[in-house]
Amino acid sequence: MLSKERQEQLTALQKKTLTKQGYRLVGSHSAVKICEWTKKSLRGHGVCYKCTFYGIRSHQCLQMTTSMFCASRCKFCWRGQKAPVSEEWYGPIDSPEHIINHSIDEHLKLLTGFGSHKDATEKKKEEIKDVRHVALSLTGEPITYPLINEILDAFHKRRISTFLVTNAQFPEQIEKIKNVTQLYLSIDAATKEKLKEIDRPLFKDFWERMNKSLDLLATRKYRTCIRLSMIKSENMGDLEKYAELIKKGSPDFIELKSYMWVGESQKYYKIENMPYIEDLEDFSNKILQLLTEYEYISKHLPSRAILLAKKSLNKKHWINFPKFFDITTSNKNYTAKDYSSKKIESNK
Ligand code: SF4
Repeated sequence: MLSKERQEQLTALQKKTLTKQGYRLVGSHSAVKICEWTKKSLRGHGVCYKCTFYGIRSHQCLQMTTSMFCASRCKFCWRGQKAPVSEEWYGPIDSPEHIINHSIDEHLKLLTGFGSHKDATEKKKEEIKDVRHVALSLTGEPITYPLINEILDAFHKRRISTFLVTNAQFPEQIEKIKNVTQLYLSIDAATKEKLKEIDRPLFKDFWERMNKSLDLLATRKYRTCIRLSMIKSENMGDLEKYAELIKKGSPDFIELKSYMWVGESQKYYKIENMPYIEDLEDFSNKILQLLTEYEYISKHLPSRAILLAKKSLNKKHWINFPKFFDITTSNKNYTAKDYSSKKIESNK
């Protein structure tokens, strides 16, 4: 039996702090926050790297989570310890329809002010009302939501594409995921000791969990990605070990993404820990020598991010959204290649 305070994922103080920081809490365990790239795209001031790499329309993206708690306390996380940590789900379970409807409502309410910006075009002001993508990654571990498959299906039925990010601590949840547009594993270090130091995981068997997650990633039919959050002078060595882990997970894509010196992470790192794009290019060139089945695809300078992809994808890094929705809503068998495209595809 859970104690009274454990029946809710957040305390009153946590709720107040999160609201002040621009989050909007939805139901008992979900939250939305407007991504900076959504605002920038609306004003015509650039697009996010997921637009550059895969064709996500940044101004039509809903950034949210279906669970506020996380099983790690990563030192590089800008969000710090505002949200709770836990090894297992607790508290009530809201329905997928409730979460989606209220998340979109809150997202649109938060965007109201930004639409009046002088650089926002009428076309984009209209388009932002039509959410086309959801980034399930805002904070916590959205994959732990017990109805995660149901909510993913509900998004796909509305022709909203889904990116789901996990830090590889819940392999049993990964095994359950039936359909998702792209599944991400964040791998924050290449050795057990370093992972413990950086992520400060709650689970004692965190290394085994991560390896199990990688094994499962290799068996997924949908598009998969390993994200390496690169912190200079911290986790940019051990190239052979990174290559081993990546081979195990066999993702379609590898994203090299610079650590950003913002928020709570400034307590642990210095601005010098942010790699330049040249540092990432150097890492990319070296790791590609060990991963001969991958190739360089693209980079996004403002985010200091680089995309590598499997050569067997034949540079089809764009998402064919119409195909994805047709496949997933008709229960057809498929592979990542079936909805990957060589040319940019619009999800209107
Ligand atoms: S895909 Fe990610 S970075 Fe791009 S707009 Fe959405 S939340 Fe922001």
